[in-house]
Order: sequence, then C-alpha cells, then structure tokens
Amino acid sequence: MRRLLIIIILSLLVGCQENSSLASLTPTLVSQSVTLDPIPTRHLRAVVTRAMTPTYTALPTRPPTETLLPTYTALPLLETPIPLNGTFSFGQSVLGTPLTAHRLGTGAKVIVLVGGIHGGWEVNTTQLMNELIAHYQANPAQIQPGVSLLIVPQLNPDGAARGRVLEGRFNQHLVDLNRNWGCGWQATAYFRSQVVDPGGSAFSEPETQALSELILNTRPSVVLFYHSAADGIFAGDCGDFAGISESMVAVYGRASGYPYEASFSDYPVTGTAPAWVTAQGIPSADVELSTWRETEFDRNLRGIQALQCWLVNEVSCR
Ligand SMILES: [Zn+2]
Repeated sequence: MRRLLIIIILSLLVGCQENSSLASLTPTLVSQSVTLDPIPTRHLRAVVTRAMTPTYTALPTRPPTETLLPTYTALPLLETPIPLNGTFSFGQSVLGTPLTAHRLGTGAKVIVLVGGIHGGWEVNTTQLMNELIAHYQANPAQIQPGVSLLIVPQLNPDGAARGRVLEGRFNQHLVDLNRNWGCGWQATAYFRSQVVDPGGSAFSEPETQALSELILNTRPSVVLFYHSAADGIFAGDCGDFAGISESMVAVYGRASGYPYEASFSDYPVTGTAPAWVTAQGIPSADVELSTWRETEFDRNLRGIQALQCWLVNEVSCR
C-alpha cells in the first residue's frame, strides 16, 4: 500500500514538472493572446461546405475593417489606377528596387499571384511566377473572359539578392515579410523554432505597404502567396471572414494535387499575408510547393485554370 502511494505521488510530481517546463518554454505565446483572432474559427470551419461546383458569391462592397479588426489601419489608395494590361511598378523595396506586377487579361475578376515573399530562401516561387507570365503571354486564350491575372514575381528583391540562405528570407531590415501584416500581428514571431523579426508594427515595411495598397485598390477575387517547401495549401484564417477561403483552396488543391485540408500547425505563425487578405473579405491562401528546387509548373497551371473556371462559373470552362 505504501509503495502504491509513493508511485502515485511520484507520477503526480513528474506530471507537474512537464507542465511547468512547457509553460516556461512558451510564456510569450500564452501571454500575447490580445490581438489574436477572437472569432471561433473552428466553429466556422465546421460549417463550411466543400462543394466543387462553383459557389463563388460577390464580395461585400465595403470591407468591415473598422468594426471587426482593431489592429487594422486603413491604407491610402494608390494615386495611379491599375493598368488594364502590361507591366507596372507598385512600390519599392527598402533598397529602392522597384516592385513589379504583370497584368494579363482585362477581366474584372482579378486573381493575384505573389512569389518571393521569402526572397532568396524560396526563389523557386519567383521562377514559377516568371514561367506563368511567359505561359500566359504565349497563350492569352487560356485566360477566361471576365478574368485577369495580376502576377507579382518577386515581393522581396532585397532578400532575393542574398540567394538561398536563411537571411535571404528577410527583407533589408531583416524583417520577415510574412509576419508583418495587419491581422493577428504580434511583436514576437517565429519561423520554425527561432524568433524572427515581424517589424516594429504591422505594415512597417515598404514591401507589405505597397502590396496591401495594391490589393485594396484592385479588390481581387483571389490572392495566392507562393512558398516552399511545406507541400500544401493553407487558407488565411483571421477576422470575421475566416472560412471564406475554403472553397477556393479546395478548387486549387484538387486540380493541383497539393494537400489542402490541414491547417498549418508546425509552429505558430502571426501577421501573415493570407490572414490579412482574408480579413478584407477576399479568399486567400499560401501555396507551399513540395520542394525548394522545382517550380512544379504543370500542377500549378492546372490549379490556376481551375480557379478561373470557378470564378466565371461557366460549365464549358476548361
Ligand atoms: Zn515562405
């Protein structure tokens, strides 16, 4: 009996130690829950349907940012309108390199594709964007009437200049541009197990300022950010619109073959680009290529073609 009692006491002590060591490992995460998404996203996820038939509905005409997102500050619109076609600069990096977008097609439903947010660390995403631009320039008939593509090959040219090293992931201020957006931004951010700089505040960096302005000014129907190499599609899930990306992600996932049903859970991510875009009422996700060497062009082309058909809701669309 006494031996049993000792065993019970010992096991209780071990359990306490595990809990206390866990708590000491993650004090910041526990204490910094103030700006985290207050919306019960799990509940929203549960009621989202995964119908493959086009279920796209018009976006709300006015983003409910003021009432729902206390961390979001309205950004000024671009002074010049978006060109109907061709290449244009929409801002500059920290070092003054122009940030360039390529518009293909003239339709009102815009699909924005962004490569290189993690610079040289994920340079195959920039290569993929350049291959897509060349493909659609050579095959303009593959852009559906009513749709246009707005492709940003390289959002982080300063990081890209450093090549495929970890520092190539960050911009010239050594800020991680995918922790610098205005929904769920936190002062302590992570990449894998290491702390990375999310910037002094949301949208502190010229690259995220410029792209967020472009998105607000364009009001696209979908925004995809390309990464490597976690092999999967991960929907943005911040604000009251969490859940609106699920159908879009399923369309792209089934056509491309990337896994799309899991949430990203390898480590906590805050202030990401798809989270903020989703909070504007625009479906958005990260597409993680399966390697950091290949562009995986064919399967991503299939995904984009499927997205176009989903947007135009045409039975004859291929
Ligand atoms: Zn990335």
